Amino acid sequence: MRNDKAAASSVRSVTVLGATGSIGDSTMDLLRASPERYRVEALTAHSNVAALAKLAREFRACFVAVADASKLDDLRDALAGTDTESGAGESAVVEAAARSADWVMAAVSGAAGLKPALAAVERGATIALANKECLVSAGDLFMQRAAAAKACILPADSEHNALFQALASGNRSELTRVIITASGGPFRTWAAADIEQATLAQALKHPNWSMGQKITIDSASMMNKGLEVIEASYLFALSPDEIDVLVHPQSIVHGMVEFADYSVMAQLGTPDMRTPIAHCLGWPERIPGRAAPLDLAKIGQLTFELPDFARFPGLRLAYDALRAGNGATTIYNAANEVAVAAFIGEKIRFGAIAGIVEATMNAMVRDGAARAPASVEDVLAIDHNARNTAATLLPQIALKAS
Ligand code: NAD
Ligand code: MG
Repeated sequence: MRNDKAAASSVRSVTVLGATGSIGDSTMDLLRASPERYRVEALTAHSNVAALAKLAREFRACFVAVADASKLDDLRDALAGTDTESGAGESAVVEAAARSADWVMAAVSGAAGLKPALAAVERGATIALANKECLVSAGDLFMQRAAAAKACILPADSEHNALFQALASGNRSELTRVIITASGGPFRTWAAADIEQATLAQALKHPNWSMGQKITIDSASMMNKGLEVIEASYLFALSPDEIDVLVHPQSIVHGMVEFADYSVMAQLGTPDMRTPIAHCLGWPERIPGRAAPLDLAKIGQLTFELPDFARFPGLRLAYDALRAGNGATTIYNAANEVAVAAFIGEKIRFGAIAGIVEATMNAMVRDGAARAPASVEDVLAIDHNARNTAATLLPQIALKAS
């Protein structure tokens, strides 16, 4: 993370990777509010050509890319009569990231976002990083590349954005620990046996945040908080012992930093991703927000409780992975992506998600396959092996009696 306050130019060129998703939508809302300040260089999506072309027309994007290579003709048809260039396939999404925008929102979901995010990193861009999975799977490497290229990584995830803001109150040597909050998700008060059998519809009902499907499932299992513990470790060079999680059902306090004198600095706001995204978009200045202002008198009470590692084993596994090193966090993320996709496809019960991640981590660490990745190819190879291992283990874990 670079802390020099570069002067913001009057018109900023921006690229949004994952423009059709939930974070993409919040980002476009902020861009829409100040058309005189931003020029859209590139936008990308997985396969929703209609939504991508609509945004391209509205924002007069220079380039758009769809990851699904079979959609190129559809995209070209949808852009007929515009000056927008287009491409399709994984390489086109990377090309979008490599084009010369000053500011890039990295909001692809999953480890698929790694290569495009790295393409923006390599050219020293300012990157608002929402895509936590790419950091979890390639953390050390990602941060090393960013430092070498003098890229500026701004955390867009609400908890990490809160920590980034609170960290400005002291020096690294004065920090004693950070605390990231968790809403606790829809199963916060449920008994273990009920969580085990929770349905897809129940897992998709998040009490506070409106988000994409994968992160919503991760929030219900608290794997999201596990990913965020790992994300915080890589972003801010913190050891696992320096990162605590507190369950805070109101989702108003997003993150806190405790310093040596036991002063605790916190960042608060309504649970709306447009606030941390606005912080990243304006940084190093502040721009007008689009979320509702915080009304603490109306909220009345802010409560906190310890997380329950027994009912939410995914959180414990994140600390295990972090202690085992970067190869293990790559495995943790890949196995979770496989398990979540299987749960969304209604192939496994909710309780099997953590079981698949644990079994994959155990099998691969036992086989010596959890070595620290030395290159992006290494990361992708570990990720690939972990996906295969998880897929192989899946049927037996799915069958295991709960
Ligand atoms: P989403 O599913 O709503 O959107 C994902 C976007 O990525 C879409 O534009 C989709 O088309 C694109 N995409 C998906 N797979 C792709 C692929 N293989 N190649 C290229 N593009 C692909 O997800 P979201 O909720 O917006 O989350 C995006 C990222 O931000 C995730 O990493 C998530 O963990 C993180 N995040 C989200 C929130 C939130 O409130 N939604 C908060 C913090 C962090
Ligand atoms: Mg978060």
